[in-house]
Amino acid sequence: MSSRAKDAEGRDPGSEETPLDMPWLAEPLRRTLVHQRAHALLIHGPGAVGQFELALALAQGWLCEATAVDLADRPCGRCASCRLFAARSHPDLLVLVPEALRESLGWEQGGDADEASEGGGRKKPSKDIRVEAVRTAIAFATTTSARGRGKFVVIHPAERMNEVAASAFLKTLEEPPGDARFLLCSAAPDRLLPTIRSRCQQLALPIPETAEAQTWLARRGIADPAVVLAGAGGQPQEAAARAGDGIDAASWLALPRRIAEGDARAFQGWPLPLAVDAMQKVCHDALCIASGASPRYFPRDRVAGDASLAALLRWSRELARVAADAEHPWTVDLAVESLVEQGREALKTPRSQQRDAKGLSLNSRR
Ligand SMILES: [Zn+2]
Repeated sequence: MSSRAKDAEGRDPGSEETPLDMPWLAEPLRRTLVHQRAHALLIHGPGAVGQFELALALAQGWLCEATAVDLADRPCGRCASCRLFAARSHPDLLVLVPEALRESLGWEQGGDADEASEGGGRKKPSKDIRVEAVRTAIAFATTTSARGRGKFVVIHPAERMNEVAASAFLKTLEEPPGDARFLLCSAAPDRLLPTIRSRCQQLALPIPETAEAQTWLARRGIADPAVVLAGAGGQPQEAAARAGDGIDAASWLALPRRIAEGDARAFQGWPLPLAVDAMQKVCHDALCIASGASPRYFPRDRVAGDASLAALLRWSRELARVAADAEHPWTVDLAVESLVEQGREALKTPRSQQRDAKGLSLNSRR
């Protein structure tokens, strides 16, 4: 699978957005810039809806030095501070992201101390935010602001702080250094230490309105934005990233049929987590239809309406098992083939055979 594609202006979708490019962030940005004073803010939302971009815009807005611009209209994008911000060299901003995400987010800065892995050698980039990086951030936060407007640490995704890192960070939250403020981004706040959560002011971002998100996707040249957006559960950044990875509307719409035919090539080149996620969505929608509810990720006519509930539940459990064990050294092709085979059985089992499914019969509804 190709790396994330660039859009018409050469940007990487989902990384270098300013909040003004994401209309659903404009109001939270204005409101938070003016009213928020907490030393720690947790920006969370269901999946990728702009948490990181909002945190960066808030830091830029609070660091902005424009004198003729109201706080609500910052960042100005033109002052010396905003220029330093754009060059990613602002001395009062530190962005902590896992090594594995730095390139795709375009933030090489921050936490260099974690690059040497525990074994001493160079391992593959860490998906965690490690304690060395958190210590660097704490040391950064305790020094005096270089330009006099405070110091900002953005941590994304905050739930990727491993246990040791989270404990170190918690101590800082208990006794926050003078003029430092922490902006934590998360799509899974329940995976943060409860003690960290409780010490942060929380800002919840909702899933953007469908029309707004579709317009945003269409403006980025993504065809059939309604289909792509539904496939990504309404999360526009996720939808853009998938489109960039070549998962277009047509190949998405074909997935239920190809699984029902046992065609594992439908997932050729897909990373395992993405393939499992897509199969979970097919399974979810088939379960919805089998129990009389509306599907969420696919149009109704794309998903078999006569699937076996028992086989779907078996498939669902197996998908959850593989999803939970994503670090397992699966042979990807074999894992996908096995999951597709189970999907084929689930989607193809005629209702007439469901009498065999103990306690799960749908026959009373027929
Ligand atoms: Zn400015």
